[in-house]
Amino acid sequence: MIAKKIHLDEKEMPKAWYNILPDMPTPPDPPLNPGTGQPIGPEDLAPIFPMGLIEQEVSQERWISIPEDILDIYRLWRPSPLYRAYHLEEVLDTPARIYYKYEGGSPAGSHKPNTSIAQAYYNKREGVRRLATETGAGQWGSALSLACQFFDLECTVYMVKVSYHQKPYRRSMMQVWGSEVIPSPSDKTNAGRGILEKDPDSPGSLGIAISEAVEDAATREDTKYSLGSVLNHVLLHQTIIGLEVKEQLKKVGEKPDVLIGCCGGGSNFAGLVFPFLPEKLAGEKIRFLAVEPTSCPTLTKGEFAYDFGDTAQMTPLMPMYTLGHDFIPPGIHAGGLRYHGESPLVSVLHRDGIVDAVAYTQNPVFSAALTFARAEGIIPAPESAHAVKATFEEAIRFKEEGKEGVIVFNLSGHGHFDMAAYDAFLAGDLEDYTYPEEKIAESLKNLPKVK
Ligand SMILES: *Cc1c(COP(=O)(O)O)cnc(C)c1O
Repeated sequence: MIAKKIHLDEKEMPKAWYNILPDMPTPPDPPLNPGTGQPIGPEDLAPIFPMGLIEQEVSQERWISIPEDILDIYRLWRPSPLYRAYHLEEVLDTPARIYYKYEGGSPAGSHKPNTSIAQAYYNKREGVRRLATETGAGQWGSALSLACQFFDLECTVYMVKVSYHQKPYRRSMMQVWGSEVIPSPSDKTNAGRGILEKDPDSPGSLGIAISEAVEDAATREDTKYSLGSVLNHVLLHQTIIGLEVKEQLKKVGEKPDVLIGCCGGGSNFAGLVFPFLPEKLAGEKIRFLAVEPTSCPTLTKGEFAYDFGDTAQMTPLMPMYTLGHDFIPPGIHAGGLRYHGESPLVSVLHRDGIVDAVAYTQNPVFSAALTFARAEGIIPAPESAHAVKATFEEAIRFKEEGKEGVIVFNLSGHGHFDMAAYDAFLAGDLEDYTYPEEKIAESLKNLPKVK
């Protein structure tokens, strides 16, 4: 049997985001000012974020209503479909029932517009004229460019230099939506010039590009900064994913046993699983499984500590799993998973044993993605393919244990701009890289000292 779509009506689309903070068994410690070591307040964030988002960052309200202007744009592709993967179940010969939530139907092709639209809205409402941001492989840059176009904001994107040259079509998408795209490190900022002085051929990294974008926003009156993952308000906006999944599962009388998402900064994973935390805390057995690459194993091999979000040490210190702020991951194809840190919310839940994590190398990930594409049609983004691989492993586990069960994974985006990665896999050119323990220990030595 072929896949079946579980539809939600426009009228049934959630009207509020779910804020996990008031429900957390242990809430995260506050971010710290890197200079004073003191917890930061709203005034510290005001130069780079609008008040509307700062309020959401620290809010204790469980439900935060979604403004009508945002719902209007969400309706372009939301509610997004949930599919029952009948054909894949047959191929895997598993008694588990597999569902996937497809976020690739947004104009940018991933879940990221769920937050970029909201962020552009709150900035516009407070009179901001221009946004600065960074992007790795280009998914976040394209999502924010789209949002800025809708809200008539200027947008400047610092794009990791190696991706700027390797992923020309993501760059052109941003330019089609009216953004200025600058390869990073650049000579436009002190942070960029500092890196170029030491290494004129630096390929760049997400940490460096963040430094450049933050500096741009902090030094211009008309400009704010925008981040595509990691922060509480970003994860909040993504909860529309899991809230819809809850409604969709209700329609078919199902409850999840395992919820799976790939994990870069944690936003699509959190978007799927956070709305199910109350049920899990109430005693329902639901496994929350985050999946990462072995080349950037933040949750599985990193340390829980205060660290900077960027390389130039400009951001507040956040309590999170980290590989060290000067960790530069190797150039694997899942660009969206190459970040040294992790959302503090997901980090605390992992530390407390509520979120499980696994890591896989590239070849088994792409092999699973290929099987998925042949069974279900959709070609997953390399990031999402990590969730596909974990789903296969869980499905096999159900089979081995002779148990039925429900697995739901987040198919966070399509892979249409990543076909070079599939080419490399098909040609047998992908390396299975596991980041060596010694090198992780080395970069963890540079963690900031916090009293
Ligand atoms: C950016 C991206 C990710 C990783 O980011 P998270 O914040 O961890 O979700 C995953 N999948 C896709 C398709 C992406 O574009």
